[in-house]
Formats: sequence, structure tokens, C-alpha cells
Amino acid sequence: MLKTPAYAATFPKAPLAPFSIDRREPGPHDVLMDILYCGVCHSDIHQARGEWGGEVFPMVPGHEIVGKVVKVGGEVRKWKAGDTVGVGCFVDSCRTCEACKAGDEQFCEQGGPTFTYNSRERDGKTPTYGGYSTRITVEEGYVLRIPERLPLDGAAPLLCAGITTYSPLIHFGVKAGAKLAVVGLGGLGHMGVKIAKALGAEVTVLSHSPGKREGARRLGADDFIATRDAEVFKKNAGRFDFILDTVSAQHDYNAYLQLLRRNGTMVLVGLPDPTPLAAFPLIVGRKRLAGSMIGGIRETQEMLDFCAQHGLPSDVEVIPIQQINEAYERTVKGEVRYRFVIDLASLK
Ligand code: NAP
Ligand code: ZN
Ligand code: ZN
Repeated sequence: MLKTPAYAATFPKAPLAPFSIDRREPGPHDVLMDILYCGVCHSDIHQARGEWGGEVFPMVPGHEIVGKVVKVGGEVRKWKAGDTVGVGCFVDSCRTCEACKAGDEQFCEQGGPTFTYNSRERDGKTPTYGGYSTRITVEEGYVLRIPERLPLDGAAPLLCAGITTYSPLIHFGVKAGAKLAVVGLGGLGHMGVKIAKALGAEVTVLSHSPGKREGARRLGADDFIATRDAEVFKKNAGRFDFILDTVSAQHDYNAYLQLLRRNGTMVLVGLPDPTPLAAFPLIVGRKRLAGSMIGGIRETQEMLDFCAQHGLPSDVEVIPIQQINEAYERTVKGEVRYRFVIDLASLK
């Protein structure tokens, strides 16, 4: 076992603090990587605070991981020491069910994938620990290649925020000229804006923070709607073909559904507490309400290559790990532009 420094929450809502974990020596099909950067996703906060239920503590969060390969197992051909690689939200899955075979490992039918943290290895016992640590051992098939053109800190958030917004835009067929709204301009939202623009959509940001108007424009958004004024829901009724909802807190889905055109689609990727839903705003206009969760390995690689090709790293604020608790507070308050990323050199 490899003793590895980390930061952990030892019980729900506990501040994160220094902690030591064991990483396994790479087996024949494993890759051992030094972690350079790890993004701070709002899902880290939900889970470290026990907001979803069933969490595994102590918890080392972090699933937006970028680093360098230091060692590979004897059977590994795809990776070698020195490669720049990434790890996203899961590190294994059954590999045999229909979802896994279709490249939708995130929906593995054998008890779900093995998530990067707050989860158990396929043995059902060994807890997994995430990227708020200096190294990680991962099965070679769950490792991504970070294209050279991406800055390493700005690439990290793509492993969750990037794929979570790219996947539904592709799956639901967002095309050039589509009128698209992104709700919530945080880590996910700002990647949604960048990717939708690169796909040629006409993008509007819907935000409860009026101060984000200029930032939305800088990210490439064509329009900005401040949603604190309830009148805007009437004024913009029927305007959008597609709505990508990335909001982490409770809000009225029914109000947003009214903004869809006939046959429009609203996709939920944000995970607030349970929220009431009415049938009327859906049936009038034959609208679709859908959900989406991260993406498979093949699609995540496709997204990384797409973001490299179009020059779309995440906008990040790099912090030492000692500032993680403050970063959580500032994320919840919506103060980050647009993703905190931990520089793991601070933990060495
Ligand atoms: P984030 O950076 O904190 O952004 C969330 C945004 O939601 C905020 O920037 C804010 O945007 C908006 N918001 C926050 N509080 C609000 C409130 N009270 N009312 C209305 N809007 C509010 O979080 P994130 O990392 O992007 O994650 C967003 C959500 O997606 C989280 O729930 C996370 O767990 C979930 N998630 C899901 C997946 C998936 O696979 N489906 C993957 C990753 C994350 P404005 O200030 O612009 O309103
Ligand atoms: Zn995430
Ligand atoms: Zn499976």
C-alpha cells in the first residue's frame, strides 16, 4: 500500500482536514498517477455535507482530477509514465452489462459504477477516495487523455462540469441556431455556455445573480435574463428550444418550463432538494423534461478533444488545499468565477 496525504471530511458537515489514505500498488491493468490539480464540484459539497444520504465517511472528495502517470502495471499498453491524464466521476464499472457495453458506464446496471469517492470498489467493501490527495491508482480503461492544447488547471473541471453539460447537448441534438438557455452560471453553467456556443447555439443565461451579466457576455452568451424579476417568465414565455438547468438549490421548475417552445426540452443536471412539478406546463406545448448524469468514458474523451479543438478550458481560480473550507463557503454563496481548482503541490 502507498501511504498518501489527503484532505477528508470525517463526518457529515465536518470541515475538511488533513488525513492519510492508502492507495493500492498498481496491479497488471492499473495506472498510478500523481495528482496535479483537482476541481471543486458542487457535488463534492453536497456529499461532504451528507445532503444526498447514504454517504461513506471518512470522505476524500474530488472527481475532476488531472495529473501525470508515474507507473503502470505490466499489462498496460495504452499509458506510460509521463502521460498527462485525467480521472472523472467514476473509476470502474461491471464492464459487461448493456449500459457498460454501450459506453454508458455511468449508468452501469450492476449497482452503478464505482464512483471516484463516496463509493466502494467492485469488491463491495473497499472505500474509494477522490482527488483531494496527491496520487491515485485507477484501472487503465477509466483513465482519460488530456489533450496538449488544454491548460492543466483549466482542464480539470472538464472531467465533471465539462462532460455533464456536453453529454445532454449532444444527446438531445442541440444544433447550430438552436435557441438555448443555461440556468445557473456556476461551474457547470459556464461550461454549458461555452460548449453550446461552440455548437453554434444562440445562448441565453438565466441567473438569479444580476451581477453575472457582464461575465455571461464575456463567456460568449448572447443574452442574459435576471430571474429575480418574476415578470421575465411572462415576457420570455415560449422562447427556447432547449433549457439546460444546472441549479444546485431549489427553484420552481414549472416557471422555467413555460419558457420552452412547442416540443422544447428542458434537461435537469443540477441536483437540488426534491422540487414539486405540475403537469400543465409540460402538456401544453408537448414539452419534454429530461435528466442527464455525467457521461461515459468514450464520450468524456470526445468532450476533452472537442474542448481542446475549440479552445474551451474552464475558467478557474486556483487555490492551495488549505483554503478548501473557505472555497466551499464561497461556492455555496455563488462567489466563484467559475470553478475552484486545488493545486495539489500544496499538499506535498
Ligand atoms: P455551482 O458552481 O455552485 O453552480 C450552481 C449555480 O446554481 C450557481 O452558480 C447559481 O447560479 C445557481 N444557484 C445557486 N443557488 C441558487 C438559488 N438559491 N436559486 C437559484 N439559483 C441558484 O455548482 P456546480 O458545480 O455547477 O453544480 C451544479 C449542480 O449540478 C449541483 O447540484 C451538482 O451537484 C450538480 N451536478 C450534477 C451532475 C450530473 O451528472 N447531473 C454533475 C455535476 C454536478 P446563478 O448565480 O447564475 O443563479
Ligand atoms: Zn461533479
Ligand atoms: Zn455495467
